[in-house]
Amino acid sequence: MATSSTKIIRIAPIGFHSAIAIAADELGHYLPRLAPVMCRVLTCCSYPPQKARVQILLGTSEHLNPRGLRNVPALSDCDDAFLIKEFRAALYLIGSNPRSVLYAAYRLLEHFGVRFIRPASEVIPRRKRISWRGLRIRESASYRHRGICIEGAPRLEHVLGLLDWMAKKKMNTYQLQFRHAGAFWRKGYTLTGQIGPEQVRPAEERRRPEVLTDRDCYALDDRVIHRCRELGFIVHRVGHGWTAAAVGRAGIGWAKTRRRVSRSRQSYIALVNGKRAFFKGVPTNTELCYSNPSARDAFVNQVLQYARTHSEVDVIHVWLSDSYNNNCECKACAGKSPSDWYAILINEICQRLEAEELPHRIVFLAYVDMIWPPEQERLVHPKAILMFAPITRCFVHPLVDTQCSEDACLDRSLLNRAVLFRRNRLFTVTAKSWRGKHPGDAFLFDYHLMWACWSDGWGLDMGRIMAQDMKHLDELGLDGMVSCQTQRCFWPHPHTMHAMADMLWNRSLSEATQRRKVFADTYGEAAKLAFEYWNGVVKKTGSGRSYDHKTVFSATEPSTTVKLDNLAAWLSKMQQALRSAAGKLGEPVHRDSLRLLAAHASLTSLLVAARLGALAGSCKRLDKAREKARKRIAEIICNFDLWVDPSVMPAQVEGLFTEMAKEISMPKTLPRTR
Ligand SMILES: [Zn+2]
Ligand SMILES: [Zn+2]
Repeated sequence: MATSSTKIIRIAPIGFHSAIAIAADELGHYLPRLAPVMCRVLTCCSYPPQKARVQILLGTSEHLNPRGLRNVPALSDCDDAFLIKEFRAALYLIGSNPRSVLYAAYRLLEHFGVRFIRPASEVIPRRKRISWRGLRIRESASYRHRGICIEGAPRLEHVLGLLDWMAKKKMNTYQLQFRHAGAFWRKGYTLTGQIGPEQVRPAEERRRPEVLTDRDCYALDDRVIHRCRELGFIVHRVGHGWTAAAVGRAGIGWAKTRRRVSRSRQSYIALVNGKRAFFKGVPTNTELCYSNPSARDAFVNQVLQYARTHSEVDVIHVWLSDSYNNNCECKACAGKSPSDWYAILINEICQRLEAEELPHRIVFLAYVDMIWPPEQERLVHPKAILMFAPITRCFVHPLVDTQCSEDACLDRSLLNRAVLFRRNRLFTVTAKSWRGKHPGDAFLFDYHLMWACWSDGWGLDMGRIMAQDMKHLDELGLDGMVSCQTQRCFWPHPHTMHAMADMLWNRSLSEATQRRKVFADTYGEAAKLAFEYWNGVVKKTGSGRSYDHKTVFSATEPSTTVKLDNLAAWLSKMQQALRSAAGKLGEPVHRDSLRLLAAHASLTSLLVAARLGALAGSCKRLDKAREKARKRIAEIICNFDLWVDPSVMPAQVEGLFTEMAKEISMPKTLPRTR
């Protein structure tokens, strides 16, 4: 029993996985900051020390399973669970695998009051003593897949910081896209967008994209994989690019090419509108002629070759092109749906991986015109995992909300005539239609934190939607999510990120309790004010009925001007309140959090000013607000660069101003009616 009189807590990691050693080191790091104790972390060993002067023991149930201790989690590579229990005067942290031991360590720290708000932003309360008398916490993950995929404009430190935050929040999967993730690293290390950091730190940022060579990008990927391996994460890799590779192109990123396909491979390319050529000049966006066995072979061989040389990858994503209505129209291909050809390809790959005894699993993607399951084929191999990606969905409503609907045909589209769904009812229908067509392992690949989150608060409440989506994944037959997202995405509050991690771990959490807890942890004494602002801004920027999908920035009712005037006054009052409260907070994490919210209020008020200008037909007023917003965004990125993506965020806000500007220019081009 450790009490304030305890001088030293001995921490014994049992077993040799790095995640267990990290778990022991993390306890050794945090416990002395929490209370007046000293920690001694022992060297890893294969069995528990004989006598109980050791006070905390950590390991998987393989090495640590004392007789008499009940409910020890069963060993599993993919399913995460842990037990924290006082037993015979010592504290046992036992996981179903090494990363679950690490989760147990962080869960213990949470029990003592530590809060992992954002990367490099944690609250560690100071306590008089640490006690684990009678402590018993037994948890297991609600969903198997709990991951993040690289997007946006990160640097290495952002991804490493995010990985550590993910471990603290019990997430288990990371995906690097393409053969290397240079498409994202290059944005992070160089110019990142219209109002990116080149304005903020010109000396550092004025580098050209080619500064990062392919070798640099592979080296950055390697550092990320190394950390994933240390933490015991599941590594996913690739995605798009295989179709390009099958015809001899690198298939890294979405670059256009002026070069034609080589004559020997031209018959591999899909016949679209009578031509076999790169679709709109982009190899990554080009499909193949899948009824051609040589084209299929070239594709399958690319994946096999990759698997043979990439033992660091657990799950290879085998996606087709990143476009739609580009499928082969030749007579042989037209006999089956694109999803059927895809199923044939994936089945071939899985069988050949198995024949070569390669351990990798394969993710296939239900997406745009392949959102429908195959008609004739089945994906039967246990190596295959379905990934359902509703990229054009609505974020005003949860994914399972069937009232969020549109006048669109519910049937599968004809070849190359697909129209993308914008509302959620059709995604719910298609997700459910996959049942029985694949082995069963499946997850959602979604984009809450990619684009829509940068309009959060403006008629949108992403944290609420995220929580509801994660709670109801099982209704769609999905066992978790890999979030395709910007890596610096804690704007303007961390609730959405926490809702994702918390609900993926435990979907029976009450939505309201989880939200209240995140706000209390993030803002401390100012939580009530933060709630008042957030709930207020979401409500006041919405317009009309929910399923109208309108905001005060898009509505045209005459009452909109009055609403905007009232909103402007309220925002100015709230900005003052938030800034003044931030000045009084003692905890730096709470202060930063409130400053972020004040920055959101300030940006919102500039959008309101621009919209009022637009409604009055004044380009001048709109441009003035837009210019101010650009400066404000540059400040926000400079002040909070760990938590705000410098590329997607400015582009998304700029897009809102552009929409408003269109409104002014439009009447001029229309004929006058009077
Ligand atoms: Zn064809
Ligand atoms: Zn909707």
